[in-house]
Amino acid sequence: MEVKKIMQDLEQKHPGEAEYLQAVKEVLISIKDVYNQHPEFEKAKIIERIVEPERILTFRVPWVDDKGEVHVNIGYRVQFNSAIGPYKGGLRFHPSVNLSILKFLGFEQTFKNSLTTLPMGGGKGGSDFSIRGKSDNEVMRFCQAFMTELFKVIGPETDIPAGDIGVGAREIGYLFGMYKKLTHQWNGVITGKGLEWGGSRIRPEATGFGALYFVNQMLQTHNIDIKGKTIAVSGFGNVAWGAVTKATQLGAKVITISGPDGYIYDPDGICGEKIDYMLELRATGNDVCAPYAEMFSGAKFIPNKRPWEVKCDIALPCATQNELNGNDADILLANHPICVAEVSNMGCTAEAVEKFVKAKQLFAPGKAVNAGGVATSGLEMTQNAIRLSWSSDEVDEKLHQIMHSIHEQCVKYGKLNDGYIDYVKGANIAGFMKVANAMMAQGIV
Ligand code: GLU
Repeated sequence: MEVKKIMQDLEQKHPGEAEYLQAVKEVLISIKDVYNQHPEFEKAKIIERIVEPERILTFRVPWVDDKGEVHVNIGYRVQFNSAIGPYKGGLRFHPSVNLSILKFLGFEQTFKNSLTTLPMGGGKGGSDFSIRGKSDNEVMRFCQAFMTELFKVIGPETDIPAGDIGVGAREIGYLFGMYKKLTHQWNGVITGKGLEWGGSRIRPEATGFGALYFVNQMLQTHNIDIKGKTIAVSGFGNVAWGAVTKATQLGAKVITISGPDGYIYDPDGICGEKIDYMLELRATGNDVCAPYAEMFSGAKFIPNKRPWEVKCDIALPCATQNELNGNDADILLANHPICVAEVSNMGCTAEAVEKFVKAKQLFAPGKAVNAGGVATSGLEMTQNAIRLSWSSDEVDEKLHQIMHSIHEQCVKYGKLNDGYIDYVKGANIAGFMKVANAMMAQGIV
């Protein structure tokens, strides 16, 4: 395999799809050596097939706002790879959503889901719709309009969507209600459901909890205790709040969170009532973090900046893709953190990742670190299929096991001769091998 040649072809075929090309390139560089040891992969054109989604659905989503004005958004579902299970992955509602973003997310999801050890293929979908400033009724009408197209291609054995940025419990409820009405079927077609109607315990927190289990294991592998360590977190959405909560439970101190307006530095630690306050603020539709500094003395609000300039032991990007660039990596590295782990999907630019790996920084990529979210979605699917609901302890125990296994796979494929664990390489090779072997077994389809 020649990475340069494949990338040139892809750039020609999909010009301007920067995020998608970035995600593909990272995987190709990681797997190149292993791939070249398997001439049968080359013969079956595994790479050429694995980088293209099996199917993409694009549709119009017209809806009417509270004033009676008509709006038109674009809806998507990218069914990326079904070699090891039905398509599985979230829906993102955000103005930045376009095909490149959803293809990168669907591609990453394929390998992430493979790492979970559960039988789930990869997919992603969403819309360029923004929930910011919309009333409940507007969000409901949008979700209903979105589902009138999406329902045709999803199903509990076909494609199982879930949440992502802009899609939380409220949106999942409206989407599920419309699916049920259109199909006359009550089944586990979506994950992230409410507890009373088929949802799994721990699912809302699972991405953040799983991330901290993974980080803890990275530290333990190097004989480092997480207790007393300072953590810089970015974001304060679904994922960040789970990470902050679990970090605090494990005895670490979270000193930053961020919003689109800037970041909060709180040397006393962001925990307890402070988390509740931010959650309540968000629930009112407000996703800025400046009010935190007015509420809690000792905290400082730094406008229009990201928290990577703060000296910390552990840095956890938890907001969105490419939120930590090469410059941020330089600043972080100068402060000698113990560990950097992407909790957001592709939270670091390619340049930043390269800098971390070159500096032998303890660093792990999103597809390993944040896989606890989709893994718990997989556990929700199992509970729906057997019509049982497991206790929090049962789900948490399984989540622990899964994160442990992902860590082991990363070490198995990523440990270099000098002892450095290249988690990027490890996660990509482990995720890839399972999907590639399944594709080989299933013929040219
Ligand atoms: N959107 C989440 C992710 O990036 C969760 C997907 C799911 O639960 O299906 O993995």
